[in-house]
Amino acid sequence: MAAAWQDVVRDAAAVREAAAVAVDAALLAGVLMRTGEQPHASDVVNFAPFTLLPSAVPRALFEQAYAVQQDFNLLVDAISQNKEFLEQTLASTIKVDDFTARLFRIYTQVLEEGLAQSVFLGINRSDYMFDCGLDGTAALRQIEINTIAASFGGLTSRTTDVHRLVLKVLGKSEEASRLLPNNPAKGLASGIAKAWELYGSQRAVVMFLVEDVQRNIFDQRCIENELWNRNIGVLRKRFRDVFEQGCLDGSRRLYVDGQEVAVVYYREGYVPQVYDQQNWEARLLLERSRAVKCPDIATQLAGTKKVQQELSRPGRLEELLPGCPEAIARLRATFAGLYSLDEGEEGDRIAAMAIADPDRFVLKPQREGGGNNLYGEELREVLEKIKDSPERTSYILMDKIKPQPALNYLLRAHSPLQMSECISELGIFGVYVRQGQQLVLNQAAGHLLRTKATEHADGGVAAGVAVLDTPYLL
Ligand code: ADP
Ligand code: MG
Repeated sequence: MAAAWQDVVRDAAAVREAAAVAVDAALLAGVLMRTGEQPHASDVVNFAPFTLLPSAVPRALFEQAYAVQQDFNLLVDAISQNKEFLEQTLASTIKVDDFTARLFRIYTQVLEEGLAQSVFLGINRSDYMFDCGLDGTAALRQIEINTIAASFGGLTSRTTDVHRLVLKVLGKSEEASRLLPNNPAKGLASGIAKAWELYGSQRAVVMFLVEDVQRNIFDQRCIENELWNRNIGVLRKRFRDVFEQGCLDGSRRLYVDGQEVAVVYYREGYVPQVYDQQNWEARLLLERSRAVKCPDIATQLAGTKKVQQELSRPGRLEELLPGCPEAIARLRATFAGLYSLDEGEEGDRIAAMAIADPDRFVLKPQREGGGNNLYGEELREVLEKIKDSPERTSYILMDKIKPQPALNYLLRAHSPLQMSECISELGIFGVYVRQGQQLVLNQAAGHLLRTKATEHADGGVAAGVAVLDTPYLL
């Protein structure tokens, strides 16, 4: 798996020429990001970081990841409707983690009032790494599932063409022709369009709830433009705009800036830092409304790391998906070892195990967006410090996945061209729509491969660590 491009990867002249072609191709294809220096401007932009070469991915594992995506959609949807499960699973977490607690409070508040929303739209991305066993065989292991603001479905739809061209320039037309087509932007837009249609008002628009700083705007525009092409109007608004311009009518229809909103698509709202008191109020207003939230607050909670850990307990999947033994087998086959650090004997034992052998594990708080996990010595230090305090409960522990590295070049604006030892993470996008109790759409919507140098333990593309990639199936 590591040796896909052995003949060219060390050919400095060929690599330099191909890199120049690659960067121009990325700009032409629209693989773009706003710059760190001018994050609010679209008149000076640069290419989003990407690999020079597509990375090898074992075909069987790629197919396995696609085959389990509808199961993950079903599972997330089932969890989001299971109040008892969410309550029990998050009970210990919300005692110590203020952010999860505040989300949970909104969740209970909207349930008490009674849901006005009757159409549900889920867009998620299940992320995996390829764990290399002692005998050299690789296994698919889920890293996490993102149920809110899963990004890069737009830019990755345009990255394949760039890699196809690079391979041709390197004399590999045959291999170039084998890169798979991939268009998550279209798949995600079709889910949003379905939800919009079921909401049932021609005048209503889709609202992208966006960040204050929108460096990744082009990724979002890919989906936005797909909607405009279907004659569905799109608004881009921040929480602050909703606070200032949003209101509900008597039947809890949502209006922002005078326009009725059918679907709220969150590309923001998953980190505590964005929420001041006004933004929490805006979030509550959105959740109380009749509009289709993608995701609704229950589905956001279903994507927490604590829920992921709980799912790995024997019997849990059977409770959540009764009568689906095949789906359960497919889901479970992707799980890595996950461990609870809740107070009590089990948690004590797990904490001691991790302190004794920190390199075997990753310590994860209830946070999203990269850069929050702890590894190695740092893991040991933090766990030593909190092992006898309730704070321990805000984390989960996970087996560390150890993929086989491969050589590649990470192309980044203003960075020298240099060879790196890299590992990749495969994400599969899923989209589903439910009306009342009836699931009307459930699909895998494309894939995303992100690659990073092995010297970084953590961090995604937005965090400046990983770069966009294209799978080359072996
Ligand atoms: P986030 O919500 O911050 O994206 P993740 O669980 O995806 O949290 O972790 C962030 C990154 O840390 C991943 O993209 C991956 O590179 C690394 N990582 C997470 N879990 C593991 C693991 N079990 N083994 C190895 N690396 C991991
Ligand atoms: Mg992640």
